[in-house]
Amino acid sequence: MNEAARRAIIRQTLALARREVQPLWQAIEERRERTFRRVLGALQEVSLSEADFAPSTGYGYGAPGRQKLEAVYARLMGTATALVHPSIVSGTHALTLALFAATSAGDRLVSLTGTPYDTLLQVIGVRGDAPGSLRSHGVSFAEVPLLPDGRIDWQTAKPLLAPPTAAVFLQRSRGYGLRPVLGERALRETIARLREVAPRVVILVDNCYGEFVEETEPGEWGADLLAGSLIKNPGGGLAPGGGYVAGREDLVERAASRLTVPGQGREIGPLLAGSRLLFQGLFLAPQAVAEALKGAVWAARLFSALGYAVDPAWDEPRSDLVQAIEMGAREEVLAFCQGIQSAAPVDHHLHLEGGDMPGYEDAIVMATGGFVQGGSLELSADGPLRPPYRVYLQGGLTVDHVGAGLEEVCLRLWEHHGEGKWENVLERLRGKGKGTENRP
Ligand SMILES: *Cc1c(COP(=O)(O)O)cnc(C)c1O
Repeated sequence: MNEAARRAIIRQTLALARREVQPLWQAIEERRERTFRRVLGALQEVSLSEADFAPSTGYGYGAPGRQKLEAVYARLMGTATALVHPSIVSGTHALTLALFAATSAGDRLVSLTGTPYDTLLQVIGVRGDAPGSLRSHGVSFAEVPLLPDGRIDWQTAKPLLAPPTAAVFLQRSRGYGLRPVLGERALRETIARLREVAPRVVILVDNCYGEFVEETEPGEWGADLLAGSLIKNPGGGLAPGGGYVAGREDLVERAASRLTVPGQGREIGPLLAGSRLLFQGLFLAPQAVAEALKGAVWAARLFSALGYAVDPAWDEPRSDLVQAIEMGAREEVLAFCQGIQSAAPVDHHLHLEGGDMPGYEDAIVMATGGFVQGGSLELSADGPLRPPYRVYLQGGLTVDHVGAGLEEVCLRLWEHHGEGKWENVLERLRGKGKGTENRP
């Protein structure tokens, strides 16, 4: 069968999978509309005007754009205040500011959601000996793995919540570990219980990838401090960089003191490139997040029909944008990522190989070809080259881009499959047989 014929079958398969997920897409769109209204309301509340977009220089005193941006973020994150700045380089940087704001020498930090995101391990000091880690500042760390069913292990946690524990870390996103979602309901319950058991402990939420997936944000659920990246969800694909820390007044002040200078905090920090893209990205963020979610659901449906284990399942609730697919073989991880790369608007011609990444432990292959370097609200895929050879697919500013990426992936996987497989899959999706639903 030649490539054109293969593509035709792949497109039919994609269309059938898309038809099946329509009820979920509709639910995502309804949520998007409500979230958009919330964002629009927050922008109007600060009476945004064109003058607010102007760049500022030098110290950046009194930049009205920045103050309004921070007020909008605080409102949307459900917190008293926020620090938002393009000089926060990444989500890891924002979380670092938050972690240092929440702890002092002699304190202990406890993660109740297992091992934190890879890049935070060096920040905390549990991996490597990078200078300036929390550990090098005298802050100790303990982690409590989630129970096999994904709930928090209170029995193990309880003795760890006594002094010197000063802060508890919760990761909202499932990230690259597989676990059930810790959505609004679970996190509200967790936070309420923490307040009873350890009323003075600072509750810090890693909000990366979670923004606008649900209708409210962790500040409203009672978190003291949250942090995230503007090149993920809240930047809407337009923000060229930046991060935010939102939360209690005193804690955000400490974070700002670490970002700039004690005593000046948020009073300084110029927006050298102005703030228009940060505002406009936020305005578009509910739309972009919804498109990425629709793409993830579509991919999950397609790949479970193809017989791969997927997590979350296509019809499972989601609290972030990440879709894990178990490819089972190194070549298939490479084929998957190469497919996504080939559909990129930028660098589509690159040939991918596995390599080392700063902050990550295993060799990893990454497909990114977005307009913002590393911007993972844009369609991207990556996977560590180790068993069980999972890839993580995320983002997509438009669901059409996700579709184009999936088509390229399927074309490359065809080599590993043989023709019979695709006919079976088509049959199954046409409803002539029972679908296979797998998950790891
Ligand atoms: C992406 C991410 C981070 C780190 O963000 P970077 O911008 O890549 O530094 C931290 N935690 C979670 C859950 C993430 O998804």
